Parts: sequence; C-alpha cells; structure tokens
Amino acid sequence: MESTRSNLPPVIIPRPEHNVSRANISPNAVKVLYRLREAGYRACLVGGGVRDLLLGREPKDFDVATDARPEQVYKLFRNCRLIGRRFRLAHVQFGQEIVEVATFRACGRDSDDSDGPSVERAADGRILSDNVYGTIEDDAWRRDFTINALYYDIANFAVLDYVGGMADLQAGLIRLIGDPAQHYHEDPVRLLRAVRFAAKLGFRLDPATEAPLHRLGHLLEKIPPARLFDEVLKLFLGGCAIQTFELLRHYRLFVWLFPATERCLNHQQHHYPKTLLVRALASTDSRLAENKPVNPAFLFAALLWEPLRERMRHLEAEGLDAHMALQEAAERVIQAQIRHTALPRRYSLPMREIWELQQRLTVIAGKRALRLLDHPRFRAGYDFLLLRAEADEQAAELADWWTQLLALDPAGRVLATQPAPKAKKGKPRRRRKPRSARGGDQAAQPAPEA
Ligand code: ATP
Ligand code: MG
Repeated sequence: MESTRSNLPPVIIPRPEHNVSRANISPNAVKVLYRLREAGYRACLVGGGVRDLLLGREPKDFDVATDARPEQVYKLFRNCRLIGRRFRLAHVQFGQEIVEVATFRACGRDSDDSDGPSVERAADGRILSDNVYGTIEDDAWRRDFTINALYYDIANFAVLDYVGGMADLQAGLIRLIGDPAQHYHEDPVRLLRAVRFAAKLGFRLDPATEAPLHRLGHLLEKIPPARLFDEVLKLFLGGCAIQTFELLRHYRLFVWLFPATERCLNHQQHHYPKTLLVRALASTDSRLAENKPVNPAFLFAALLWEPLRERMRHLEAEGLDAHMALQEAAERVIQAQIRHTALPRRYSLPMREIWELQQRLTVIAGKRALRLLDHPRFRAGYDFLLLRAEADEQAAELADWWTQLLALDPAGRVLATQPAPKAKKGKPRRRRKPRSARGGDQAAQPAPEA
C-alpha cells in the first residue's frame, strides 16, 4: 500500500492516550520548544525522538520543527548557529548536545512553477536543495518514512499524525511516504535509511517500500562520498551492525558502499573473510551494548581487510616484499574506497597502523617486540589479531603468544622476548612462549579454520 496525500485533518492523539512524556525528553530540547512557543511560534518534537519515545526506546537525539524561519530561530538563542546548504537549519548548542531546529518545509514546487522559491533538482530527479517553507502538514509529507513523521506538539502535548505513522508504528512497518520509487530517486540515501531503521527497530519493510530496494542501489553512486561515509557510520555504529550488514547485502546495497569487499565476499570459496567481518561487527555491537567506545578505524580495518590481503597477494606475486606490498596495497585499497565512501585521515591513518601491526606483531623476540607494547595503536592491533585468530590457526598461535606476554610482569616480559639462538625470524615459536603466563580473560579462543 502507498501512503498518498489526502489533506484530511491529522489524527490527534491527546496526551492521556500516548506515552511521550516531557520527563523523557532532553531538558535542552524542552527548553528550545518552550522558548519558541513563548515567542509565538509553533514548536514540535519530530522524527526519531518521537518515534523512539513512542516505542519506549531511548532516542539518540531530539529534532525540533517549527514555523519560525532559521533567522528567527537564530535571534531567539545566543548559542545558535545556522548550517546547511541543502537544508538550512539552526543548531542550538548546549555543551555537547545539539538540538536541531528545522523550519517546516514543503516537498516543494518544481522549478517550472512560477511563484516562490523552488526545489533545485538534478537531471536524475535528485533534490539538490529545498528550502521551500510550508505548513506542518507539508512538512509531514516531505519526510522519509511514516514512523518518522509524527509530531509532539509542545502547545498541548498531543501527538499529531498526518501520514498514518501511528498505525505503522504499532504494526512494526517501515513505509515510505508517497511514491516509493520517486522518493528513492529524490534522495537515494533513503535506501540506506530504510535498511537502517528496519534493522534497528526490528521492523518489516512494507512491500511497496521494499520492492525497489534491490534494483536501485546504483543511485548511491550519485551521492557524495562524504555523505555516504556519515551514513556508513550510522549503519554500523548504531548497535545492530550484524542485522544491518545482512540486510544491506540482501538488498544488494552493500556492493555500492564497499564494492571491493563485496567482491571478496563473493569470490572466496571458504568463509574466512565473512567470518572476520561478521565477528568485527558483532564485537562492535557488544561493545556498544556495554557502553564502551568504538573506533571507526577498527571497523574500516575489518571491512577492508580482505581487499587488502588480496592486493597484497598480487603485489607479493609480482616480487614486492611483505612490507612494501602492505604499504602499496593499503594505499590502493584506500584510493579505491574513497571513490565510494570518504575515509577521513583521522580514521585512515589509524586503520593503516592496525594493518601494519598485523605484520609487526609477528616479530616476537627482542626489544622490538617489547617496544610494540608501547605503540599507541597496540591495543587495537592486538584486538584485531584476536579477531583474526578466531578463524585462522596461525594468527591464533600468535595471538596466544601476545596474550600470554601481556599477562606477565615487566621482568617476565623481558625474559620471554629474549631472542633464541637459532630461531627463525618472523614465525611464532612455541619454544619462546612465556611459560608462566596464564591466558586471562582476554585469551583468544582459537577456533578451527572456518
Ligand atoms: P536517528 O534515530 O538515527 O536519529 P531519525 O529518524 O531521527 O533517526 P535523523 O537523521 O536524525 O533520523 O533525521 C530526523 C528526521 O528528519 C527523520 O526522522 C525524518 O523525518 C527526517 N529526515 C531525515 N533524513 C531524511 C531524508 N533523507 N528524507 C526525508 N526525510 C528525512
Ligand atoms: Mg534523529
């Protein structure tokens, strides 16, 4: 079924009949809502904040929609910045927290309409800028999914539903507002958002919303890599990376984000690469569940690990030594990837270091091995080795060695890394295994080759 615009009055769910409470809204967002209202404007909470509160979940952020123009919002708050080209928005900053305030917008008239500002479109129908202001109802209809278009009105604490979002929320359905194919063309990032919300909320995709997904992934080629990078972080750092990854592959969207990785996943006969990636995603999810920090560099190191190895194999076959092959392969993998998603240097540099450490961690004798413990990226490199160890016997042996070394005191570590007279360089040797060490809770669980 398609949700088409009806111009019927909204369904109004009065305060006693819903569970959105001011107590669960960030105090700063409440402040913004009241300040707008006191200045005579309409002010509503909208988007993920309302959706998540209705579902009894904790919202990630709170977005405010208003009939005040950005300049008018700007005048009301000292701590306010106007941002955005495609959408002009006000950001009201409270310490770390930003409350985003957007003016009600219309889907927009197209350029050939005579009066008023217009939506700027690319030849393929993508909306490049749309600063056409409108009513709250217009604003509801220009949003992506019905469940994202519910308004919590600070004037009377009611929830307003113009698009059937409440019913879809109750049914657990992700449904695009309006004509699905057209909406995906207007902003192809909605393809990724559909998958992200389905995974995060555990919702089903409405058939009409789902049908075009398989065949429209190519539209993502038109999206600037910087925006896709931001989306990738939301996709994989939202706490449901595994389901998101499976859905992205199922709908053939992953290939447009990480084509080299997709090729490796398809070409490898055995399951090793998928295992490493899925384990990295699983560990990301469980770290987030425990409120531990996650590092995008680690995630990208895992996502691009197999493409890196493949290139290294080719370069080594051409005669490069392992070190040079890694440097060259890393460079090429990154250059190929940034045509699809950006990869800012603050992430690509530590990602390369994590990769380099996989080589350096094979040196397990002498001062060089000891010094590695002080490497700023040692922990990430070691964690990555543990991940590899879960599916790779050789890596498991190496990981085991480092795990045991870490369990020793400084003197024990010096002893354990003293070079053996006839040792072959570059290979983990059981003989030199620090004997007195115990595995500890971070011990790798060597698994048989998957
Ligand atoms: P999250 O929990 O990830 O914050 P969200 O629904 O709040 O989810 P945001 O990216 O914060 O997502 O966007 C806020 C709201 O703006 C959305 O709920 C939706 O109504 C609207 N919106 C965001 N992106 C788009 C888009 N590409 N097309 C149409 N509407 C959008
Ligand atoms: Mg949000």
